[in-house]
Amino acid sequence: MSTILRTWNLTKVYRDREAVNNVNMQIKKGEIYGFLGPNGAGKTTVMKMITNLVKPTSGEIELFGETLTPKSYEVLKRIGSIIEYPVFYDKLTAKENLQLHGEYMGYYDPKAMKEALELVSLKGTDNKPVKEFSLGMKQRLGIARAVMTKPELLILDEPINGLDPLGIKELRDVFRMLSRDYGMTLLISSHILGEIEQLADTVGVIRDGILLEEVTMDTIRTRNTQYMELETGELNKAVYILQHKLRLSNYKVLNARTIRIYDAISQLEVNKAMAEGNVELDSISKKHHSLEDYFVELIGGEGIA
Ligand code: ATP
Repeated sequence: MSTILRTWNLTKVYRDREAVNNVNMQIKKGEIYGFLGPNGAGKTTVMKMITNLVKPTSGEIELFGETLTPKSYEVLKRIGSIIEYPVFYDKLTAKENLQLHGEYMGYYDPKAMKEALELVSLKGTDNKPVKEFSLGMKQRLGIARAVMTKPELLILDEPINGLDPLGIKELRDVFRMLSRDYGMTLLISSHILGEIEQLADTVGVIRDGILLEEVTMDTIRTRNTQYMELETGELNKAVYILQHKLRLSNYKVLNARTIRIYDAISQLEVNKAMAEGNVELDSISKKHHSLEDYFVELIGGEGIA
């Protein structure tokens, strides 16, 4: 998979405070990258540096294979973003706001504008002035504006802030669709673990300006496997296979039907050995540590829930 964005020792110092400290992150094409960290961790500052709104104190940013400079206008045209609260011309309608943005970006395509409004379920409201919009509607309009120019990378800073559960679900579906159907790469920040967990392919965890970890969700899930549990009516035969065929030692018989395996072994291997030994399994499943425990431990317990 090719890399869309890479940062090298990215650092921002405000007065004598390091808001972002030697961050090396890598976002691959087509993935949803969840940027997770408590308030004040440095997420917004990183996003502002990526979009040239803030100048790094040191370090480099590579976007689409090019090093970002204050003159990288063409590179920035390939990005859509909402960083902090989206600002609109209040007296103008949704459509007029999008038109203005299109002109500003040198992109005029009425069809794309219509599609973008449709995408975020704002089609019926495109003639209302934005001042009559709810917060959720403004968030959605912000997303329509950001995706209207069909960016390859979409950067969203805490996009679900202030939305009700229904609005959150709707947006989540939009993000998934953009990734799946448009092949768009998404960088989404949040301080809410559950949100990132449901959406992201890769998670970057940041605290006090330091990127503590960058890891795929698949890796986290595998790493957090606690044990595998088997249920069978043929317990003795199953234990025999575990011991003599698979040579496992770390397992426990819980009752007349249930065995827990703590050894690192794949479900596939266990299934195969049981099938070869003619043992019928009623069920086989993996139990995980909760991801919440894992992240809370990593971050130190504040700010993410
Ligand atoms: P939040 O979700 O609360 O915005 P964040 O993870 O996005 O948190 P940042 O906004 O990037 O964090 O802030 C990181 C740190 O840098 C904070 O301590 C913040 O107070 C500080 N900071 C941000 N912008 C400035 C600025 N313009 N001048 C001085 N300090 C700043």
